[in-house]
Amino acid sequence: GSARVEVLPEEVFEWGCLMVDQSAGAIANAQMNERMEQLATTDGLTGLKNHRCFQEEFDGMFHRSERYGRNLSLLLIDLDYFKSINDTYGHPVGDKVLKSVANVLQDSARRTDLVARYGGEEFGIVMEETDGKGAFRIAERIRKVVEAQLFPCEGGNFRCTLSLGVASLDSEIKTKASLIVAADQALYTAKNTGRNKTVLFS
Ligand code: GH3
Ligand code: MG
Ligand code: MG
Repeated sequence: GSARVEVLPEEVFEWGCLMVDQSAGAIANAQMNERMEQLATTDGLTGLKNHRCFQEEFDGMFHRSERYGRNLSLLLIDLDYFKSINDTYGHPVGDKVLKSVANVLQDSARRTDLVARYGGEEFGIVMEETDGKGAFRIAERIRKVVEAQLFPCEGGNFRCTLSLGVASLDSEIKTKASLIVAADQALYTAKNTGRNKTVLFS
């Protein structure tokens, strides 16, 4: 008899192609979903979590702390005289300063801390299992690193400083909203008593 090469019946071959095609589609979908998720939660300039993501994750952290009676601290950070940096050196240079400060924050935080761009030139860090004293210490470390940084620019280098407000859950601060108000009040005090300063709410 004659030799005959066995080939897959046409239907089986088509079925196989369809399977390969579908799993490629599934992988593409998964990658697309991941990318969409990243776009929805990340601040485009700094790569930190955005405000919406911050509020969501903060909610979860707050409820965990409340349930288990653990410490929780909030750090609000605002760049000093940032408008004048923009006005003097230009908006793109201002953007570089924001990115650089964001990097310092990310590097200073622990893996369990939530670091986010809270608004324009404001950042927030939520720290689980950290009391006011501990959060103050971290805030001061951040403040000093940024204070020491020289930003290169044609026409001379310049510096940028931070004001920071710290508050923690305690007998008087029992809700997420009041924690934000307290940290904001501390930040306000830092601004009004000289800037380049950390104030612990009391
Ligand atoms: P203070 O020390 O009281 O905080 O003064 P400030 O100038 O930092 O505060 P102000 O609120 O007057 O100005 C904030 C500026 O931040 C104004 C706004 O144009 C700038 N800003 C907000 N978002 C961005 C951004 O994404 N890039 C740049 N370059 N500037 C931004
Ligand atoms: Mg501000
Ligand atoms: Mg400012």
